Amino acid sequence: RAISSLFSADRPLRSLEFFPPKSEDGVTALRETAQALSGIEWDFVSVTYGAGGTTRDRTAQVSSMLKDELGFTVMPHLTCVGHSRTELEAHADRLHADGFRNIMTLRGDPPKGETTFTPAADGLRYANELVSLLKSRHADFCLGVGGYPEKHPEATSLEVDLDNLKRKVDAGADFITTQLFFDNAIYFDFVEKCRARGITVPIVPGIMPVLSLKQIQRIVELSGTRLPDALRRRLDVAAPDPAVVEVIGIDWALDQIRDLVARGAPGYHLYILNRARPALALAAGLAA
Ligand code: FAD
Repeated sequence: RAISSLFSADRPLRSLEFFPPKSEDGVTALRETAQALSGIEWDFVSVTYGAGGTTRDRTAQVSSMLKDELGFTVMPHLTCVGHSRTELEAHADRLHADGFRNIMTLRGDPPKGETTFTPAADGLRYANELVSLLKSRHADFCLGVGGYPEKHPEATSLEVDLDNLKRKVDAGADFITTQLFFDNAIYFDFVEKCRARGITVPIVPGIMPVLSLKQIQRIVELSGTRLPDALRRRLDVAAPDPAVVEVIGIDWALDQIRDLVARGAPGYHLYILNRARPALALAAGLAA
C-alpha cells in the first residue's frame, strides 16, 4: 500500500527504521527483533541501503523477510552511490516485481574515506534525479525523500538546501522524512519554511532516542544535529550508568513525540538501530 495514502488517517503514522545486518546471524537477530515488535501496529517499516558490498543485497533480503514473513508494509531505501542509471533502473524493476511500492529515495553519503560525493559512471548526482528516474520507470511508486531541519552538512545555507528539497518534491516525491533532531522548535520552524516555499507534502519527523553517549557523540558530529543544553545536562548526570542514559534518552524522545503529535506532525519515524527495547518502551509510553 502506498504510504502516501495512509496520511489521511485520523491518527499519526507510526514507523520504524531498520538497517541491514552484516551477517546471516544478524539477519536472525533482526527477525527476532521484528517479531518482538510485531504486536504493535506499525504503519510501515523502512530498511536502509548500505554504501556497498553485501549489505546491499541484505536490504532486499531483509525487506522481503519483513514483508513476506512478518506482514509489514516495507519501504526499502535506495541511493545513487556507485550505481549507473541502468543499474538503478534494473534495481527499480526488481523492487517493483517483488511487490514493493514505497521507496526512500536518496543520494547517499560518499563512501568511507571520501569526503565529497562523486557520481558513478553514467550515474546520478542528486536525489531529485533518482526521484525522476523511479517515477518515470514506475508511476505507481510512492517515494519518500530526506529533509534536513538543521540543513544538510554540505549545503551552504538552509535556504539553498530548501531549494534543493523543493526540487525533489517537484520531481515527484510524495513525502519527506527528516533527519533526527532533539529540539522540536527546529522541526516546526523547518515545516513553516517548507510551506512558505510551496512544499506541501507531509513532513514526517525522524526521532532517535539517545541510547548511549558514544553513539550520540558520533551522530551529533556526523549530522550536525544540535543537542539541547537541557538534554546534555541530563545525559552528563546519567553518564556513569548506561541504563540510566537510556532511560533519559527514551524519556526525552517520548516528550518530543507527544509534543510533535499534539502540534500536528503527521506521524513519527523511529531510528532505533535494530533494537526492540527502545521501540517497545516508546510505544508503551505513548499508549499510556
Ligand atoms: P540530496 O537531496 O541529493 O542532497 C545532497 C546535497 O546536495 C545537499 O547539500 C543538497 O542541498 C544538495 N543538492 C541536492 N540537489 C541538488 C541539485 N539538484 N543541485 C545542486 N545541489 C543539490 N544514506 C544511505 O547511504 N543509506 C540510507 O539508507 C539512508 N537513509 C536515510 C534516510 C533519511 C530519512 C535521511 C534523512 C538520510 C538518509 N541517508 C541514508 C543519508 C543521506 O544519504 C545523506 O544525508 C546524503 O548525504 C544526502 O542524501 P540526500 O538524498 O538528502 O541528497
